[in-house]
Amino acid sequence: MPFVVTGKCIKCRYTDCVEVCPVNCFYQGENMLVINPDECIDCGVCEPECPIEAIKSDEELKPEELHWAKINQKFSGLWPNIQNSVGPLPEAEAYANQSSEDKKPLLSEKSGG
Ligand code: SF4
Ligand code: SF4
Repeated sequence: MPFVVTGKCIKCRYTDCVEVCPVNCFYQGENMLVINPDECIDCGVCEPECPIEAIKSDEELKPEELHWAKINQKFSGLWPNIQNSVGPLPEAEAYANQSSEDKKPLLSEKSGG
């Protein structure tokens, strides 16, 4: 079962996670990253790398978080691949403590390449 980037990543996008992924299956939006579930090999090494715990196994998602799996599936087919850290967005610290659901309306569908 693949890992999923939840909305906690929105407006943070620290990108620490992409450096450790052995199959380079992260994709970059304007203000968050997603994981391609068809490419993720479920190794789990990215999960502890995220400083704000934005990455979860899809088995750990709460019912209200399940839509993030669909968002990862959809946008990993539209956004460009990212393999190297590019550093956080400038507003990352200010948004770091907001919940996934609080940030959901802030999701940008634009690609971030
Ligand atoms: S490390 Fe966390 S916040 Fe940063 S891009 Fe990866 S999932 Fe998003
Ligand atoms: S679980 Fe492994 S393969 Fe999947 S996104 Fe994370 S590091 Fe990449």
